[in-house]
Amino acid sequence: MTGLLICTALGIEASAVRRGLAASATGVQVLQTGPGPHRAARTAAGLPGSGALAVVGFGGALDGSLRPGDVLVASEIRFGEQVFPCPSAPLLAGELARAGLPAHLGPLLTCDHVVTGAERGRLAETGARAVDMETGPLAASVAGRPLAALRVIVDTPDAPLLSPATLRGANLARRALHRVGPVLTRWAAAIAPRTVLTASPRSFCAGVERAIEIVELALERHGPPVYVRKQIVHNEHVVRELERRGAVFVDELDEVPSGAVTVFSAHGVAPSVREEAGRRDLRVIDATCPLVAKVHAEARRFAGRGRLVVLIGHAGHEEVEGTLGEVPGSVLVEDVGEVAELPADRPVAYLMQTTLAADEAEEVAAAIRHRFPDAEGPPQDDICYATTNRQAAVRAVADLADLVLVVGSANSSNSQRLVEVAGRRAPAYLIDDPGDIALEWLAGVGTVGLTAGASAPPSLVDAVVTALGGLGAVTVEERRVAEETIRFTLPKEVLR
Ligand code: SF4
Repeated sequence: MTGLLICTALGIEASAVRRGLAASATGVQVLQTGPGPHRAARTAAGLPGSGALAVVGFGGALDGSLRPGDVLVASEIRFGEQVFPCPSAPLLAGELARAGLPAHLGPLLTCDHVVTGAERGRLAETGARAVDMETGPLAASVAGRPLAALRVIVDTPDAPLLSPATLRGANLARRALHRVGPVLTRWAAAIAPRTVLTASPRSFCAGVERAIEIVELALERHGPPVYVRKQIVHNEHVVRELERRGAVFVDELDEVPSGAVTVFSAHGVAPSVREEAGRRDLRVIDATCPLVAKVHAEARRFAGRGRLVVLIGHAGHEEVEGTLGEVPGSVLVEDVGEVAELPADRPVAYLMQTTLAADEAEEVAAAIRHRFPDAEGPPQDDICYATTNRQAAVRAVADLADLVLVVGSANSSNSQRLVEVAGRRAPAYLIDDPGDIALEWLAGVGTVGLTAGASAPPSLVDAVVTALGGLGAVTVEERRVAEETIRFTLPKEVLR
């Protein structure tokens, strides 16, 4: 493990951290600097020339939403005119949260005096979330080396220092400090130079880009609120950002006021949903991906020819519900075992959910063809180009990686399939953002494969690379297996 130096200002802070460290934590040193920037600067001048530095201790909240005992992990340290970024902060904050600590991210300000009264409000307006008196000089002394800073909140704007609440705040903070040592040890154990192999294509597909653009244009054109039935695409970050801009996500149409602008998600809807929207006079804008709509059309065509429509897919997925809804009496099969249970009273036609793992879907299709030799399938594979390309790309990086990270939300089918495909070659994990990366996954890992599901924003991939860069030098190499040029036209309702 890279040597870790933990600096605290006060003896009470140092002993709380030491007590929490396992006796076996080798290579970890806890150093007491004394309070204030001048003592911290003197200590900084004598720090060892290598290893990682974590500055830890009590702090004051500037942001009124922070409570005593909360942990502010510095995304950056502001000290006079200087700013020291802490790129691995999201990883540390996520690890602290998994350890049960109330962790927050944000800028930390180092001042040369205790901040009280109206000054707290003025400093909060700069965006800094907490204040201390030692981190800045220490950060300045280790430029280029892995750096972390965290402050456990003692005093807040409504419970300032020397108020009756101070003792309770100090006790909460001391107990929290007691628990940060093991987390910092895992952080230090994850420090290493790495290669990040990015899979390409990755992240947004044409159907997702179109769906998000439809909601954005609907908001621009009609103003908020714009109602969206279900998540427009299966990604928490996308949904939260659109909510911030005025989109209202609902599970069913009875939550939408009559006449309101309503977007159907990229996964498509059953005809019964369209009929209900008509009865409620909703102003519908359909963001169903054209490739999902194509599967709906195939289902109607097969059913019109008297065939039993069998959909290969996952129960409960919105796309599956929409496709099954197109043809009453159609049947879902999830695996090869279910093929034996299909009725044999009619000719069969099969279709696929667009986001399946291609090899597994083909296994089920082969079982259908074996049992029903005259079964018809789609003219072209229903698994869409974006799913196919992302699976091929993640295979290419997983073959070379010690660990694969797939950015995507847990309800994203195509992201889950990427984890499965990669997981046959290397340990693979789904993460919504850098905060989900468990530091123990990274210990001993030299090459990280990185991709993102079709519903995950590219900015999150960049955020993962940046966060890993806070643990040591990162070399990024891309493995491209296909070019994607597909674009879908927008519906007329959002075009001026
Ligand atoms: Fe359309 Fe494929 Fe993207 Fe789904 S993954 S929205 S089917 S392009």
